[in-house]
Amino acid sequence: MKIESKLAQIGSLSEPKTGAVSFPVYQATAFRHPQLGQSTGFDYSRTKNPTRSVLEEAAAELECGDAGFACSSGMAALQTIFALFGQGDHLLVSLDLYGGTYRLLEQIMSRFGVTATYVDTNDLAALEEGRTEATKAVLIETPTNPLMMITDIAAVAAWAKSHGLLTIVDNTLLTPFFQRPIEHGADIVIHSATKYLGGHNDVLAGLIVTKGAELSTKMAILHNSIGAVLGPQDSWLLMRGMKTLALRMERHEYNATRVAEFLEQHMLVEQVYYPALAGHPGHDIQQRQSSGNTGIFSFRMTEAALVEPILRHIKLIAFAESLGGVESLMTYPAVQTHADIPEEIRMRVGVDDRLLRLSVGIEHVEDLIADLSNAFQLAYAETRTKAPAGASE
Ligand SMILES: *Cc1c(COP(=O)(O)O)cnc(C)c1O
Repeated sequence: MKIESKLAQIGSLSEPKTGAVSFPVYQATAFRHPQLGQSTGFDYSRTKNPTRSVLEEAAAELECGDAGFACSSGMAALQTIFALFGQGDHLLVSLDLYGGTYRLLEQIMSRFGVTATYVDTNDLAALEEGRTEATKAVLIETPTNPLMMITDIAAVAAWAKSHGLLTIVDNTLLTPFFQRPIEHGADIVIHSATKYLGGHNDVLAGLIVTKGAELSTKMAILHNSIGAVLGPQDSWLLMRGMKTLALRMERHEYNATRVAEFLEQHMLVEQVYYPALAGHPGHDIQQRQSSGNTGIFSFRMTEAALVEPILRHIKLIAFAESLGGVESLMTYPAVQTHADIPEEIRMRVGVDDRLLRLSVGIEHVEDLIADLSNAFQLAYAETRTKAPAGASE
């Protein structure tokens, strides 16, 4: 079956008793045992819940892995994965990283003796240089957020395997509809399902998919032991969102490409970071390892003074901190999502005070372009009428 069909049919054949096409929400924490030593397969919902199981099986199948684990958020999923590591272990991690992941590693995992080095994961020489005897895994975001740096997953996974390291890929931005890292050799895929998989800015969730029996067993123990699992209502809501993932991703990609092309031509925009554009440094790898492009990208204005009035004048696009939903959202990474990353690192990767991030929704693309065009015009006019500092004296 093609992925569009798998998505649309999530859970639809899983309820034989009544034939319910939408899999029911099993709002139960305990399950009766038929008799001593027997189980229906469900005992207690932290370990296994029927609604969550349908979602987890779908996640594993979509990502071409062996087991899926639904967590209460993307961060909960990352914490569960990081619990594979312990005192003295070291990780190699994408330099341009989701701010929350950086905070979890630096403020929490460091206290458990797990250290990380941040490198350009598409540079095998940099990975080799960062590797130590204690290195256990590589964590890749591709594309990265917000600068959309691309990593060749197959190349890194092969390198990691040759050194006995795990390859972990945060696939939040592309989803299995466009990219399946396990097919390129990754061992673990993690999602903030809060973003594209849920797709409607209404459910917080995380997913883990593992490849291989041993790793899947280890992860099941961690998932149950840590207990940051997704509840049945949210599991149902996430599946409901995922059924339309294919349609949404196609529209996100179409809209984002048109908007990126518009911004690329605009005189107030210095640079657009979107891998679908031919000039992007990761364009070729992205086209090879993925079947499409995400709906989010960043762009740098010519002046920092334009940012505040632009955020004030956008009307259809909301100034808000998330991505991947049907509604378009604009973020100012330096003060929002990436505020916890030290300025020195932010500047090194390019998350500066002129950078804006746009999560392009599924609205009509002409309305989005008109909204941006209008906000840019008003912002420009405001910055010109304000006298330059010191000019009035
Ligand atoms: C949002 C996000 C996370 C964290 O997920 P939550 O669901 O917010 O906990 C992790 N990685 C990436 C790439 C994200 O965008």
